[in-house]
Amino acid sequence: MATSSGRAILSPPDLQPAAKDDGIDVFWHEGMLKHNTGRGVFDTGMEPDFLDVLENHPENSDRVKNMVSILKRGPIALFVSWHQGRAALISELLSFHTQEYIDELVEADKKGQGKIICPGTFLNPGSWDAALLAAGTTLSAMKHILDGHGKITYALVRPPGHHAQPTQADGYCFLNNAGLAVQLALDSGLNKVAVIDIDVHYGNGTAEGFYRSNRVLTISLHMNHGSWGPSHPQNGTVDELGEDEGFGYNLNIPLPNGSGDRGYAHAMTKLVVPAVEEFRPELMVLVVGQDSSAFDPNGRQCLTMEGYRKIGQIVREMADKHSNGCLLIVQEGGYHVTYSAYCLHATLEGVLNFPAPLLPDPIAYYPEDDAFTAVVVESIKKYHKQFVPFLK
Ligand SMILES: [Zn+2]
Repeated sequence: MATSSGRAILSPPDLQPAAKDDGIDVFWHEGMLKHNTGRGVFDTGMEPDFLDVLENHPENSDRVKNMVSILKRGPIALFVSWHQGRAALISELLSFHTQEYIDELVEADKKGQGKIICPGTFLNPGSWDAALLAAGTTLSAMKHILDGHGKITYALVRPPGHHAQPTQADGYCFLNNAGLAVQLALDSGLNKVAVIDIDVHYGNGTAEGFYRSNRVLTISLHMNHGSWGPSHPQNGTVDELGEDEGFGYNLNIPLPNGSGDRGYAHAMTKLVVPAVEEFRPELMVLVVGQDSSAFDPNGRQCLTMEGYRKIGQIVREMADKHSNGCLLIVQEGGYHVTYSAYCLHATLEGVLNFPAPLLPDPIAYYPEDDAFTAVVVESIKKYHKQFVPFLK
């Protein structure tokens, strides 16, 4: 139950995850707050003289400050252990990105004047250090699992990474944090990693990085936004299945706007779970973006805390079944400054399998209409059965 202030009141039995020794190791470094994305009209940085009040860029430090505070002061705090993140070495970045691209970013940073790397993506003084911290912190979270120190880790990082491709930045992202971590797992001897990306946008950078690999199954559930220009040439459509050895190992699940909690649960159950079942990964990576929420300025997929909780449970179940409970969670988008933090809390509640919600939803009132999503999911399933060799 909740008080009028929205604080949860929990009875002791609710405060127990399904497995008693469960907990999440969170990797974080406050230096990531120094990436200043500025203000403007939405994310353009444009300052027309006919507006008196501009907005913060959606990918701002406030959103992440709230994610930190809800994990420190929310009911889940008892099950969270904090670890200091670190900066990645330039040499570590080359496992996913090209030397030319990294040189370009280093040069842009040296000039120190701030630069638009691609639309909406600003490299200001402090941004490159933050990007290195995001990459290194995600690598530390992965290494924690690989070294056997913990099973569930969460890299609370910004700037985000899943749009960053081996050769270029895109959509607020410079370095592909999750991609670097997956490559570390492969280089450490793992053979099969499954990446499930529930950010509202297509995880095009991660898909591109492993597009020719059959060792990494990349699955992305996203809004059907298509290509948004030269920095994001991929469409995120069902026919982008991978190439060469990687054919069939990139599964795109573009969902209709407003798919909501039931629509996402349906897509997870009907498409994601069976594919992971066939693939049998040794490690699971959940790439989370709370921009799939009902109140996000950048997305229209209409998840509420309940939907995020359910996704967390489903992913945990897959990790338990296939990868000995090992799960790396990597933070991506999520631009509603307060609700994103609540949705993160709900996701982690799901991952920890609490029998009842720990926090009430402060603003969910979105009426769902998932009938169309069910039809789309059926057609994607048929398509996968027809064209994806390992799902035939
Ligand atoms: Zn996003």
